[in-house]
This record gives sequence, C-alpha cells and structure tokens, in this order.
Amino acid sequence: MLNISNTYKKLPAPVKNMIKYGYSRLPLRLRLGKKFYRELKFLEQSQWWSRQEMQAYQNNELRKLIAHAVKNVPYYRDLFLALDLTPDDIQTIDDLQKLPVLTKDIIRGNIHRLRADGYTDEQVITCSTSGSTGKPLKFYYDKDKDYLNFDPYIWRFFNWGGHKVGNLGAKLADWTLPGEEIHAYNPVRNLLILSAYHLQEDKAHDYARALAQYKVEYIDTYPSALVLLTKFLKARNIPAPCRFKAVFSHSEMLHNWQRQVIEEYWGCKCYDWYGMEERAVLGIECEQHQGLHLCSEFSITEFIPHSETKGDKIITTSLTNYAMPFIRYDTGDVGELKKEACSCNRPYPLFELHGGRRKNFAVGKDGANIPIANIDIPNATDNVVQFQFIQKNKGELDLHIIRKNNFGDSDIKKINAKLNEKFGQNMDINIEFTSTIQKTSNGKTALFVQKLKPESDLEIA
Ligand SMILES: [Zn+2]
Repeated sequence: MLNISNTYKKLPAPVKNMIKYGYSRLPLRLRLGKKFYRELKFLEQSQWWSRQEMQAYQNNELRKLIAHAVKNVPYYRDLFLALDLTPDDIQTIDDLQKLPVLTKDIIRGNIHRLRADGYTDEQVITCSTSGSTGKPLKFYYDKDKDYLNFDPYIWRFFNWGGHKVGNLGAKLADWTLPGEEIHAYNPVRNLLILSAYHLQEDKAHDYARALAQYKVEYIDTYPSALVLLTKFLKARNIPAPCRFKAVFSHSEMLHNWQRQVIEEYWGCKCYDWYGMEERAVLGIECEQHQGLHLCSEFSITEFIPHSETKGDKIITTSLTNYAMPFIRYDTGDVGELKKEACSCNRPYPLFELHGGRRKNFAVGKDGANIPIANIDIPNATDNVVQFQFIQKNKGELDLHIIRKNNFGDSDIKKINAKLNEKFGQNMDINIEFTSTIQKTSNGKTALFVQKLKPESDLEIA
C-alpha cells in the first residue's frame, strides 16, 4: 500500500518546498479539515457550561473510555479481572479510586499490553520522552487526535490570548533548523520558527530582524528562552522589534520575575500553559490570569496528597487517547488545586504547579545557551535505561548512560548522530557507562546537572 508520508519524506527538498507552498495556498478550512473545526466549535461552547454539565460530560466520557479499555486493552482487561471489577463498577469520577495509579515503571514494563487491540502502526504516533529524570518513557498516541499539529485544545487557548487560527505566530523552540539558520518560516503552519540553540548576544540583531520582517503577532515559547532573548536585545539597546499581542509560555515554571521582564519589554500579557509529551493533562491560563485552568474536556485530573512531596501529586486520566489509555497516570508533577473559582466563570478548576518543570541550559563552546531538556536520546535508541548530562566545563558535556544488556556499537552511533544533530561542533561529549545515576539532595534524579557557575540571574528558580 502506498504510504503518502514515507513517499513525501523521500522527495528532494525543492519538491517538498513546492508541495508545502502549494498546500499553504489552500483555504484554511480545507487544510485543517472538518474534524478540527468541529472540535474547536465544541470547545468554544463547552467552555461556558456549568460545573454540573462539565462533570456529567466527564462521567460519560469516562464510562466510554473504561468500556473501551477493558474490551480492547490487554493490560486493563487483566487488571479488571484481577481486581474483580467490571466496567459497570466505574460510573463516575469518584469510582476511579477503585483503580491503582498507573506509574511510569508500569508503562515501561507493559508498553505492548497497554496498546489497544486493532490499532495498527499507521494509526498510532509513537512518542518518547525523557521527562526531567533521564529515564526514557515510550508510549503511543491516537493519530486520529493529531490534527496536523493544530490541536483544537491549544487553539482554543490561543484564542483566549486573541490569537486566531491562521494568524502568523512564532515559536522559539529547541528545534533543529537546517544549517546555522536562526529562523525558518513554515508556510503550512504559518509559523516563524526561531532556534533556541543560537541564543547569544551577538545574534540579537538577527533575531530582531526576523521578528520585524515577519511582523510576528504572537509567540509560543518557554519562558527562560524568551527571557534570554529579551536580555540580549536589551543589552544591545534594541527596542521590541515587533508588538506581540500575547506571549504563550510553556514547558517550565513561569516565575513572576520572568513574567515581569517579558511583559515590560514586549508590552503584552503572558499566558502560561502546562502540558506534557504524554498529552494526559492540560493546564491553561485565561485572560483573567488567576492561575492555570484544568482543561476538563481533555482529562479528569486528581490531586493526591503524598508524604514524599510538598503539594499534591498530579494524577490524570486522559479522555482523548484511545490508542493507549492513560488511566490514573502519575505525571510526576506536583501541584495544588485552588479553592477559589476564576472570575471568568468557566467551569474549569484552577490549580497551581509546584515545580517539576525546569528547563536547563548547557553552555556551548561559543557561549550559546543550549536548552537541554529535549535532547532526544530515547528516540535515538531503545537500549538506554537511564541517562544524565553533567556539565563541568564550557563546551563540554559528560553523558552518563545506564545500558540495557543488548546495547552495542550501533546504539553509540545512533546517540552520536542525535547529539551531533543537536550540538554540531559546539559541544564535546564524553560518553561514560555507569550503573548508577547521581541523585540530587532531595533524592530525585535529574536529567541534567549544571556545575558551571551561573553568569547571570537566568539561573534564578
Ligand atoms: Zn479564568
């Protein structure tokens, strides 16, 4: 059978570009499809439901998910048998407590049994994440829910900040761009991509030029990267090169001092959002900026007190992923549900994050601050149990790896290719194999240990 995606990947770059530009000329409604707009319309209405209506919706979606999981997912089929439960025993959100928490270790040990029967490779997206602990986690996601990267949930959130589907936005991200380019325009997504790998003061004018040239109206970024760019622009006395209408901040804790720096310089409001690779929970800030709203159509999220941590564990049941149901998944993040309701009157509870998200920078030979949280070792090879980066000198990283038994030369090659793609010549990497990974003082394993002395306030956390 002809696989369009694979055929496209093999085409030469100029042909790919022609197809992309041709595609970008199609009307938005045609490009994004009925499904995307149907869901967006639903979300625009459901945001004004009462709390009771939202709860009834969640209970109904939960019953559908449980029936599907027990019928089609071997892991849940066996779990319900072992607990002597039937799908009828889970009728409401409160009944979820009859089920155990799904830990990352359970997922690692049951990856194939957690995938729903009947989902072919073409119907799932295989994802992996290293989270903040360097212990790879692989999982599947329903391809049917991936709307060409136009996720209706995110777009409803962007709408709260005034960003409409089709407007030109920018993303400051740790994505690899061809050559040494600091920016690239993606016509399909109408998105200016700015590389977070080249953030350094002597490139401030290049970033400013790109933002001004494209007249970017919105930016989606992690806060430390935008704060760094802002710092370099200010150091070169460059006024804000464009007027953002909103900044969308994600992937890290957004600290008040960062919010202040960003809002003052760019002259707009910051909208924080919290998501994860596993797409099992979504927290979004509305135009009242009173905290993160739990997106209730997306998941049922519990806050469970735990003696090990300050604040509550965030445990979540995704209502959207049928390829691999996440039921009572322990996100590893910690937070607290707020008692107050938001003055926007939407039916979503407010919560606060207490940590668990911190992106770190490694410093390259040329002084560039290189974000390290998304270094994709798990995508390079399955034969790594855990890994950790340690930086002691500028331009050098130690990569400690705990290997699986069948780890071999081809894994080293794959890892080196991945590292080279991310760092180029800007970093020397020493790979060391180990049987234990260094823990922090509170007993957690960190993906990255930075031993260089911070040069600025950017390390404030
Ligand atoms: Zn609100």
